[in-house]
Parts: sequence; structure tokens; C-alpha cells
Amino acid sequence: MAEPFCPEMRKLLTDTAKSLGVPVHEKGTYLRIEGPQFSTKAASSMYKQFADLIGMTGVPEAILSREKEMCFAIIATVTDYDSWIGRGASFEEIKGVMARNLENTRKVLQAAVEKVPKERDCICKDALRGAEA
Ligand SMILES: [Zn+2]
Repeated sequence: MAEPFCPEMRKLLTDTAKSLGVPVHEKGTYLRIEGPQFSTKAASSMYKQFADLIGMTGVPEAILSREKEMCFAIIATVTDYDSWIGRGASFEEIKGVMARNLENTRKVLQAAVEKVPKERDCICKDALRGAEA
């Protein structure tokens, strides 16, 4: 689980986003917190020390995918800066950003699905090698 996301799926998704002109960050640390919730300023400032992005999904999906030797990647879209920036985002602000993010996510997924290779050459398919009893 050192690298929970499939490197091939990650590249496919980031390359597809770039080809469509969708802004994308190729690297970063994702911190999954229990949700749904909005963070206090204290919690948000602490999370900011550890991660580039905070979300409330991806676990246990990443763990279960690896255990089933499935490729797994996340398209994590940013809705707000959380409360460390000095003020929390309003629900209306977040809803507006989410609507725009959803449109970009649909574009990327529609284009990427067609490019998923039939044969895998990634680490995921052999994740359990040597672990069988
Ligand atoms: Zn994979």
C-alpha cells in the first residue's frame, strides 16, 4: 500500500486531462478524513502540514482494490481551501465549484475509458504474489 494508486491509471487520467485542457496536478499527498464534515481552523491547519489535498473518500476503496489486484485511481477535484485560509467556504460556493468540476470529470472519464489497455503492465495485477498460503 506504499503507493495506493495504480501508476498506469494515474498516467492515463493525467495525460487525458492534459489533452483536454483540464487543469491537473500530477503529484500530491491525499489525506482522507472521516466525513461528511467541514474542518475547524485548527484541524485544517494540522491537515495542511501533512497533505496537499483533503478528502473523505478513497478508503477503503484503495485497500480493497489492492487486495483484489484491481487497478485503482482517483480523480480528486478541489472545491475549496478549507478553513485554514481564514474563512470557510459557503455551501453555495462549494456547489458551484462542484458543478464545474463534475463537467471536467465527465470529459476526462469519457475520453479515458476508451484508452484503458486490455493488458495491464502495472504492479496491481501482482499485488498478492507470494502472499497466497
Ligand atoms: Zn494497475
